[in-house]
Amino acid sequence: MPPQGKNGHREQKLVVVGGGGVGKSAITIRFVTSHFYDEGYNPTIEDSYKRQFVVDDEAVTLEILDTAGQEEFAAMADQWYTFGAGFLLLYSITDRPTFEALPNFHQEILRVKDKDYVPCVVVSNKCDLSRYRAVGQLEGREMARSLSAPFIECSAADGVNIEVAFRELVKLVRKDQKREAL
Ligand code: GDP
Ligand code: MG
Repeated sequence: MPPQGKNGHREQKLVVVGGGGVGKSAITIRFVTSHFYDEGYNPTIEDSYKRQFVVDDEAVTLEILDTAGQEEFAAMADQWYTFGAGFLLLYSITDRPTFEALPNFHQEILRVKDKDYVPCVVVSNKCDLSRYRAVGQLEGREMARSLSAPFIECSAADGVNIEVAFRELVKLVRKDQKREAL
């Protein structure tokens, strides 16, 4: 049982997943430190971060796992998926294969957790690079709908919609935890 405050759960474990180079580390670091991480591309294996966050007047301690999307780390994915209560499914608007890979990530999460619903938010990153856009907003929205997830376009570089994405996910995880507690 996760720890409970008087208004519900006070801790959440969230996982950021998606293909290589979509901005998983950039988004996580932007959210945790308010800075843009740009040290070139550095394929993370996994890093975990903590941040206090207030959503709907209720504080939550988030433990956020920034993962690797590369195939060679696939063996670790089961552990990440077991760990997480909620998932940011990330792709880059400039990289179409990362968009097409999202349903696979989603399916794997459901399979590992043996559930037919897991709280997820579809996040399309790098919206500051619109001149290199390779995935339309409407396509993103439709994909999110097909995965029963909200859709948010953001930019880790410009700091656009990062908190919005995490806030949506925190709300979905709370709802899910309430449902599971019934
Ligand atoms: P990860 O493999 O998913 O963790 O991707 P990274 O966070 O390492 O980002 C990969 C590259 O994309 C890095 O060079 C980042 O600086 C860059 N990047 C990440 N997010 C954004 C963004 O929102 N806009 C732009 N222009 N570049 C970004
Ligand atoms: Mg990374």
